[in-house]
Amino acid sequence: MDFARPGTPTRVRVPEPGLGDPADPWRPSRLRLVCLDIDDTLIDFTSAGKRALSLLLGRDDMWPLWERITDWHVAQVVAGEIDYACMHHRRTQYFLAEIGIVVEPEDVTRFECRRKEVLRRSWRLFDDVLPCLEWLRAADVLIAAVTNASGAHQRAKLADLGLTRFFDHLAIAGEVGAAKPDPVMFHSVCAVLDCDPGEAAHVGDKLHTDAVGARDAGLEGIWLDRSGGEPEVPDGVHVIGGLDELPQLLVSEFAMIGVPAQR
Ligand SMILES: [Mg+2]
Repeated sequence: MDFARPGTPTRVRVPEPGLGDPADPWRPSRLRLVCLDIDDTLIDFTSAGKRALSLLLGRDDMWPLWERITDWHVAQVVAGEIDYACMHHRRTQYFLAEIGIVVEPEDVTRFECRRKEVLRRSWRLFDDVLPCLEWLRAADVLIAAVTNASGAHQRAKLADLGLTRFFDHLAIAGEVGAAKPDPVMFHSVCAVLDCDPGEAAHVGDKLHTDAVGARDAGLEGIWLDRSGGEPEVPDGVHVIGGLDELPQLLVSEFAMIGVPAQR
């Protein structure tokens, strides 16, 4: 397993979408790599995060504000302005100030430590994750986890939940120097695993960050819509309602995996 930092992303060729092997146009291009987002794709991150905030604050309406403030601060990490540890502290300090709680820096540290303790006890996998990963392993494709969150936390999550063994590579935005939906993030994974983007698919719960970003980078973009709530989906984006639908999509829609080429 290669969980090493990927280093400087290599420029890779992005094929025209839908093209197969030029030497044999009847043969579809082969799927060699499946990338998966982590939070809210493999792990029920939102439920754990909401639970932690609710326990610490005694109220359950703060999650949308927490998410917005977190997104602003993650952007600073991706831009190289601060590291994840600094981001966590600043994000929490900003959040507490926003809701009218003015505290000393050591109180912010205590709040953040307590929040992470609750989070770590609350991680759980969605029920469809292990069967899907087992199927992908049996289908002999490379598997990568691609995340915009902190490397330390994501590695701990995957280890705690017994997922590390499934992945050939873990791509962390703060380590790549780019974040989804930037094509650099997706191309860095393809470069590390020596795959063409046209031989890869990416699955994630965020329509634009994951699926549209992957599509625009030349991968198959697959949106995992567990809620089934989005009325319109952009062209070229595939939709599944759960990871239990992924094997069928890969086999029947793309015809690139687990079956011989048909003429
Ligand atoms: Mg996600």
